[in-house]
Formats: sequence, C-alpha cells, structure tokens
Amino acid sequence: MRRLQGVRVPHLKSTAGSAPANMTNLDVAIYPMVQHIGAPAEAVRQKGDAVCVGTLLARASGPVSSPIYSGVSGTVEKIEEVLSSSGKYVPAIFIKPDGAMTPDPGLALPKVSDTQSFVQAVRDSGVVGLGGAGFPTGVKLDVQDLSRIQEIIINGAECEPYITSDTRTMLDRSQDMLEGIRLLQKYLGAKKIVIGVEKNKPQCIRAMKQIAGSAGAVVVKELPSIYPQGAEKVLIYHTTGKVVPEGGLPIDVGVIVLNCTTLATIARYIRTGMPLVEKCITVDGSAVEKPQNVIVPIGATLRAVFAFCGGFKSQPGKILYGGPMMGISVPDLDMPVLKQTNALLALDARDAAPVDATNCIRCGRCTNICPIGLAPVSIATAYGSGDMEGLQKIHANLCMECGCCSYVCPAKRPLVQQNKLAKAALAAWQKSKK
Ligand code: SF4
Ligand code: SF4
Repeated sequence: MRRLQGVRVPHLKSTAGSAPANMTNLDVAIYPMVQHIGAPAEAVRQKGDAVCVGTLLARASGPVSSPIYSGVSGTVEKIEEVLSSSGKYVPAIFIKPDGAMTPDPGLALPKVSDTQSFVQAVRDSGVVGLGGAGFPTGVKLDVQDLSRIQEIIINGAECEPYITSDTRTMLDRSQDMLEGIRLLQKYLGAKKIVIGVEKNKPQCIRAMKQIAGSAGAVVVKELPSIYPQGAEKVLIYHTTGKVVPEGGLPIDVGVIVLNCTTLATIARYIRTGMPLVEKCITVDGSAVEKPQNVIVPIGATLRAVFAFCGGFKSQPGKILYGGPMMGISVPDLDMPVLKQTNALLALDARDAAPVDATNCIRCGRCTNICPIGLAPVSIATAYGSGDMEGLQKIHANLCMECGCCSYVCPAKRPLVQQNKLAKAALAAWQKSKK
C-alpha cells in the first residue's frame, strides 16, 4: 500500500451531538443466521419456544462463526428464510415480542481468569466487528503466541458521512472502553494500545485522552480527517507506519485492530453477562423526519426503526445499511437491524437519483486516489474481457470496496460495483482451480 490518498467527503454528522434514544417497543424481531463473516449460526430454538433478552437463539457452528442472542422477550413465531443483505436467502428466527423486555434469568457472569477463558468469553458474547466488518472478535483475539502482539489499535476513526454511532460510544461509553482496555492489557498482555481518532472529533479526542490517562501505555493518535481513515489497513498505516503484506493479516505486522464499540461491548459482557443484544445506530438521510442515534434491539425491522424516528418526510429513493460510501442498498423495509449494522440511511429521490455514466476519459484520478494503489480501469477492463489471470496479476482481490474511485470519477463510472463483481469472479475462478 502506498501513502494514503483518500478523499475528503462531506462531514454531515448532524447527529453527533444527540445522545441516543432507546427503542424497545417492537412488533416483531427477526434474527437471520448470518450476521457475521464465517459459517452461519445454527438455530437452537423452535416455534413456540419462550425467550428472554439474552437467550441463546443460535450457536456458533464452526471455528469461524458467532452465536446469536435474542434482543427481546417473547415467543418464537416461526423459522423461515429471509433475504439477507448479501442477496442470498438465509434461515431466520422470528420472535413475537411480549413487550416486557425480560432479561434471561439464566444469564451468568462469564468466568474469566486467563487468556483462554477471556477469548472464550469474547466468542460466547456474540460480539463481531461492530464497525460494520462483522468478523467474529473471539476469532480475531485467539492469537496462540501472545508475544506476536506488539500493539492493539482501537478504531475510533468514523470516516463515513452521516455515521456517528462510534462517536457516541467514545462520548457515552468511555468507561466501558477503559474496562475493555484493561482486559486487553491483562489477558492479551497488550504492551501498547493506540486509540485512533480523526482530528474532526475534538470531543472524542478529549474523552479518549481522559481514559488514556487512567490506563498505562495507552496513547491517542489524532488522525487526518480523510476517507477511508477507518479502513483497517489504512488505520494501521497511519497509526504505526506499518504495511500489512498482501494476503496477510494485521497480526502479521504485530497489530490487532478493534473497533471502539466492539471493545466497549466486550467489557460490558464481562461485567454484566449480557451478550450482544442491542446496537446504537445512526438513522439519517434526507428522507428521514428526525435523524438521530437510537439504541435498538438487534432484530428490529428497518420499518420500525424509521417509524421510531418520525417516519419519512418524503418518499425515500434509496435505503442503505451503513453509510453512503460503503453502504448496501436495502430492497425491503422488513429486513432487520443486524449485529454489524451501524447506520440506516434513507435518501430522498433527489439524493438517490442514478447518474448517467459516460465514457472513461483516461484522467487517472481513480488510480491516483486508490489507497491501495490499484488501477480500477484495468480491473474493469480485465473483468469485462473475462481475463481472470489479468485480474489476479493486478491484485483485484485487494480492493476494499471503499468507493473512493467511484467518488472521484468525473465520468461517473460504476467502478466500485465493477470491482465487487470482478472480485467475486476472481474468487470463484481461484476456487475452481484449487
Ligand atoms: S474501491 Fe477498491 S479500487 Fe476503488 S479506491 Fe477503493 S480500494 Fe481502490
Ligand atoms: S476516474 Fe473515471 S474517467 Fe478517470 S480514468 Fe478513472 S474511470 Fe476513467
């Protein structure tokens, strides 16, 4: 990776100053078995079962998987397939809430006494990369040789427009973060912890400096306000100067990256025994009546969340899981909030209007801006001609789908969309060769 190019995107963080409201009243809660990277979870409940907040609904089904817990109390209504954000149909547990939000009486504090039991507790918590990545955190922390960990980076770089849910974590849950930092120091032997926050979040920087002062060997790194500062490899480069090798993992350069909300949620589980059952999400966009941050039970439908925020002031032209740069378009308001959901955007018809792409003028802006140093035009050309070896040679698989190339393209070429298709085709070709 070369020195970050990135783009300056509109800040649009009007919800940053609003403390999140709590939403608890749901008509239905839906839990797809895929809410993480890895093997789908395996349902352990059946139609008619009574559940409480924190009841296990589905267990991890393999080494890279994650359990799913109920965010409401009520009764399992049915198990049937739903359309997931990936476009595939996956099984989901539907719960009819009773409105009481009764915590599961069987919940107990996890027994944590050493590294192994800490990592197991993180696996059991159901926590995955809550900044949007969805990778099971217990798997990430399961480092056999702890001497490999030179530093842990806490990701407070919330660089996409609109999204402020991590900002609220840094402002409202800094004590949870401090507890989490102490757990990392105690059980992973973290020698150095760096909290990375962009310079355009001075309140967060102050809050993080306060907790850094309460824990030894913690520094706050003020980062340039540029997109995609929060992308793992970019963050590692800007906080440590290290470059993760192609095909490698952060631990290969002695680094683990944890999102700030992920860290706070782990700490809360160890302290209370309540697994991951709710999320603070930003609800914003030009079609939303009352943009705000909301703490919602995971499983709440998008329809219910938008209704909680006053509904729509105009007919939405597009609904997104996530931000405008990397978000995924949602076809159906009855899809649920997932573990890795950090924002829901509803854009009005004007903001969502499709742009007409024109011919590439070979200006090279897309290549110049790519943080990874890829050549999107070459990827599009190789993909268009079915040249899988060419895609492999130009490292199309490294595209992190940040959207910077599409953002700067004067011809409005759908570059990131083509990159996604190219990556999928390349992965399928590589798999068939094996
Ligand atoms: S979407 Fe991929 S090719 Fe485009 S700028 Fe981001 S990493 Fe580079
Ligand atoms: S930025 Fe757009 S117009 Fe310029 S080279 Fe890339 S694809 Fe072509």
